Amino acid sequence: MAESNVSLKEAASVEAAGTIDIDRCRDDFPVLRREVHGKPLAFLDNAASSQMPEQVIRAYTEYHSRNHANVHRGVHLLSQEATEAMEGARETLRELINARSSKEIIFTSGATDAINLVMQSWGRTNVGEGDEILISTMEHHSNIVPWRMLCDEKGAVLKVIPVSDDGILDMEAFASMITDRTRLVGIVHVSNTLGTINPVAGITRIAHDHGVPVLVDGAQAVSHMKVDVQQIGCDFFVTSGHKMYGPTGIGILYGKQEMLEKMPPWRGGGDMILSVSFDEVLYNDLPYKFEAGTPNISGAIGMGKAAEYIKAVGYDAIHNKEQELLRYATGQLQSIEGLRIIGTAPEKSSVVSFVIDGIHPHDIGTILDLEGVAVRTGHHCTQPLMERLGLVATTRASMAMYNRREEIDQLVAALRKTIEMFR
Ligand SMILES: *Cc1c(COP(=O)(O)O)cnc(C)c1O
Repeated sequence: MAESNVSLKEAASVEAAGTIDIDRCRDDFPVLRREVHGKPLAFLDNAASSQMPEQVIRAYTEYHSRNHANVHRGVHLLSQEATEAMEGARETLRELINARSSKEIIFTSGATDAINLVMQSWGRTNVGEGDEILISTMEHHSNIVPWRMLCDEKGAVLKVIPVSDDGILDMEAFASMITDRTRLVGIVHVSNTLGTINPVAGITRIAHDHGVPVLVDGAQAVSHMKVDVQQIGCDFFVTSGHKMYGPTGIGILYGKQEMLEKMPPWRGGGDMILSVSFDEVLYNDLPYKFEAGTPNISGAIGMGKAAEYIKAVGYDAIHNKEQELLRYATGQLQSIEGLRIIGTAPEKSSVVSFVIDGIHPHDIGTILDLEGVAVRTGHHCTQPLMERLGLVATTRASMAMYNRREEIDQLVAALRKTIEMFR
């Protein structure tokens, strides 16, 4: 059991500032040891869900084996321990994204749930007939569908900022599309399909000049880059645990306290109240006002531990590693005849989407799987973006801190084999 006693700091695999000891890092992720169809696993589907390190899994099981009890109500020790662990995770996550107060960190079931919370609470009270919601062409369905639903309900208008063929947001168009009817700008921080990193601080500044609040969909940001919500200045920021080395079914909504305080609760039930009678309900303070019912306690603890893991490795090291992988993958893939990379913005996270002449992405994905390579194929929950680019689907390789060049080589070899088969 020596291994399970490794402290987070040791296991964080930091060699020197800015580099990752890749063997030790990979050792932290048990799943990376397994084989798929008799081949070593090359896990390149991190934008869909990244893997969990031992530290997160252990925190999760330890909670279930030692501390499990419902939070916020019990006077007994287990309940106090569970509450402490969950509130500790909230504080860790507050620190990770540099929110001013842990009152601004609401636990949700994920990024999707967090956007729906904003839509149901803020949206339904602040958006009326003829008002406008401004989003971009490269949004994930999670940041389209709730606003489409709201617009349909209220008779509001969903406006869409265009993107270039390279997958770059048209900032001039954006600035010109804000009107005195714009109620919210919703923008993805990092595109899950293209890897494009959007200038969210600049976007927020422009929106705020017009008095328009901004929601940033950060599901693809937090695992790759330092996010500072105060520096961005956005009003809302959402992310998911499973996109940042944590568990599924947990995420956070960050909201500026002054915004959250003005918003009505969305879901009603236990924990979000101070007192209840049949005639009147007094709501709890932030952040609990938005957390009705028993929360995903172990998920929150796991997500907090994932944030600690990221911090221990360090964003400099993660950035250097992933950008090196991105350059390598881009170069290797470009050398394949008939392959075209989709999304070539200068500022990208470690995502490479591509198409190959004459071969459907689903066929590519199926053959790659047999070679042990896990990638995602399809529209990546960005159908309007696909339509804009004239595509139905792409194959997407998305890299995390633990990936190696050898896995890119495995991908490239498998792609060459695929092309041979279709010749
Ligand atoms: C994955 C993802 C979401 C949705 O996250 P869930 O965890 O499924 O709620 C939203 N936006 C982007 C950019 C994503 O990549």
